[in-house]
Amino acid sequence: MLRKTCRDFADKELAPIAASLDKEHRYPLEQVRQIGELGLLSVEVPESLGGTGLDYLAYAIAMEEISRGCASTGVVMSVNNSLYLGPLLKYGTDEQKKKWVTPFCSGERVGCFALSEPDNGSDAGAAKTTAKLEGDHWVLNGTKSWITNGYEAEASVVFATTDRSKKHKGISAFIVPKPTEGLSLGKKEDKLGIRASSTCSLIFDNCHIPKENLLGEPGFGFKIAMGTLDAGRIGVAGQALGIAQAAFDCAIDYAQKRMAFGKPISSFQAIQMKLADMELKLESARLLTWKAAMLKDAGENFTKEAALGKLAASEAATYISHQCIQVLGGMGYVTDMPAERHYRDARITEIYEGTSEVQRIVIAGRLLKEYAQ
Ligand SMILES: Cc1cc2nc3c(=O)[nH]c(=O)nc-3n(C[C@H](O)[C@H](O)[C@H](O)COP(=O)(O)OP(=O)(O)OC[C@H]3O[C@@H](n4cnc5c(N)ncnc54)[C@H](O)[C@@H]3O)c2cc1C
Repeated sequence: MLRKTCRDFADKELAPIAASLDKEHRYPLEQVRQIGELGLLSVEVPESLGGTGLDYLAYAIAMEEISRGCASTGVVMSVNNSLYLGPLLKYGTDEQKKKWVTPFCSGERVGCFALSEPDNGSDAGAAKTTAKLEGDHWVLNGTKSWITNGYEAEASVVFATTDRSKKHKGISAFIVPKPTEGLSLGKKEDKLGIRASSTCSLIFDNCHIPKENLLGEPGFGFKIAMGTLDAGRIGVAGQALGIAQAAFDCAIDYAQKRMAFGKPISSFQAIQMKLADMELKLESARLLTWKAAMLKDAGENFTKEAALGKLAASEAATYISHQCIQVLGGMGYVTDMPAERHYRDARITEIYEGTSEVQRIVIAGRLLKEYAQ
C-alpha cells in the first residue's frame, strides 16, 4: 500500500515536473510539503512525536518510489529523515525531541546535517570546526561544506571539535537553529545532478548557541555521525534504486517502440543482453538494500549490509543510467528524454554518505573482523 501511494504520487506530481525543476535549479517547495503531508519526511519517527511510525524497510521503499519520480526531491527527503531526524531521535533528550523533531515531521520545515568540511570529507574525524563553551553558550567557528538542504533548512545537526588533540574523540554534535547570528551561507553549488536540491557551505563566525543544544554526550559526535551514516546509506541506496528503476523503465519502453532495420530494437539480442544485465544489477541491489533495512528493523548490526546495499545500488544506478543512454542512442543524449538526467542524478549516489571507495573500506573492515584469525 505504501509503495502504491508513493508511486502514484511520484507518477502524478513528481515525474511530470522533474525535468523543469532540474533545468531551473528550482527547490521543490510544494512537493516537499506534499510528501510531508503523506508522512514521508518522518517515516521512522513515532506517531507520539508527530511522525509516521513505520520501519526502515518502509523508508527504503518510499525513498525508491519518490526518487524514481524526482531524485532531487528524494535527497531532500533522505536528509530530513535519516541525517537530521535520525540522530535527534536516537540521541536527543525529551526536551530536544519536542523542540527539534516534532516541528520537522510534517514538511513545514526541513533540517540538514553538517559533517563535511572543505579540507575533509571521507576523513570526517579530522574536523576543524571548533566549539568552545563560554558560560551558558557554545561558540562555533569554522566552515561546513556541501550541505544538502543548506538554503532551506531551519535547523542543522553540526559536528565540531572541542579538542583537536583528541582527534575524532574530541568531536561533539550540536543542534544549530537557522537563522542564528554568526551563521551565514556560502554560494549555492552548481551541480551535475540533483540540481533542484540546494547544496552550500555553512559558515560559522563566533556563532553562539545555547549550552543545551549539545546533542548526546560530549566527545560522542563522531560515533553519532558514523551511526547516522550507517542508517542514511539505506536511504541513499533507496534513492539510487529509484534512479536506476526510472532509467530501466525508460530503456525498456524505448527499446520496444524504436524501429531499426525493420524491427523493434528490443528484438536484437545485443539490446536484450543489456536489459537482462540491468535487471540483474537492479534486483540484486534492491534485495541487499532491503536486507540491510530488515536487519536494522530487527535491532541487529547492519553496518556491513548498509554499505553493501549502498555500494550495489549506487553502482547499479550509474551502470543502468549509462546503458539507458546507449539503448536510446541519440535520444539518450538530449533533454527531450529523461535518460541524461538519470545519468547525471545517479552519479552523486556514489559520492555522498561515503564514496564507493569508503563503502569498500567499511565492508572489508567488517569482513576482516568476522574472519579474524
Ligand atoms: C551534492 C552533494 C551533497 C552533499 N551533502 C552533504 C551533506 O548534506 N552533509 C555533509 O556533511 N556532507 C555532504 N556532502 C559531502 C560528501 O559526503 C563528501 O563529498 C564525500 O564524503 C567525499 O568527501 P570529499 O568530497 O572531501 O572527497 P575526498 O574525501 O577528498 O575523496 C576524494 C577521493 O579520494 C578517495 N579516498 C579518500 N580517502 C580514501 C581512502 N582512505 N582510501 C581510498 N580512497 C580514498 C575518495 O573515495 C574519493 O574518490 C555532499 C556532497 C555533495 C557533492
